[in-house]
Amino acid sequence: MHILIVEDDRGITSFLEKGLRAEGYATTVAGTPDEARLAVEIADPPADLVLLDLGLPGGEGGDVLSWMRGRGLATPVIILTARAEVEQKVQGLNAGANDYVTKPFSFDELLARVRATLRTAEQPSSSELVVGDLRLDLLTKVAWRAGQRIELAPREWALLELFMRHPHQVLSRAQILSSVWDQTFETGSNVVDVYVGYLRRKLNKPELEPLLVTVRGAGYRFADDTSDAGAAEPERVD
Ligand code: CA
Repeated sequence: MHILIVEDDRGITSFLEKGLRAEGYATTVAGTPDEARLAVEIADPPADLVLLDLGLPGGEGGDVLSWMRGRGLATPVIILTARAEVEQKVQGLNAGANDYVTKPFSFDELLARVRATLRTAEQPSSSELVVGDLRLDLLTKVAWRAGQRIELAPREWALLELFMRHPHQVLSRAQILSSVWDQTFETGSNVVDVYVGYLRRKLNKPELEPLLVTVRGAGYRFADDTSDAGAAEPERVD
């Protein structure tokens, strides 16, 4: 994931670069609107997200945002500025910003907003996810299995959506925790296992193939069939 930082304050820039890189993001810095436009145009791979300061030498961050949206670029933008008036926030969001963070900011909060914004941006334009006999309607947040409607709590929904976006892949507990739960749990937390258990009770029926197999020592795998499950020696725990 590549983040473009548009900011003229060197101290903030290096603080952001250091923090974001430590979290595994690649970063590019632009200090003026012209540099920002150039960075947006030549970035390869393109930036996945832009952190945008408003007060810049030689122009306004807001102009960069309007320019991007005017060109049909949907890259998520988080405005990061000392201007905290509601009116300015509304203006920024109306101009097409995805979120707005005011300085001084906490890095942890900014990081959480970056992650949330990237997560939302990753959603495909299609409103449905289908794997095997399971279907998720992303707009109404209703799940169906073999034509039967299944009611899910928000966290169960997030967990199932994660599995359905990675069918047949083994997901570790740590991967699941960081994707579905934002906060860091102490190691040894069994919250993932508990929620996988909830999901299984709702999804699995005696007449249907079991979903969500436990891969011992590795995590869980979402499968819409069990034809190749034997190789991984799945152990089903309810
Ligand atoms: Ca500035």
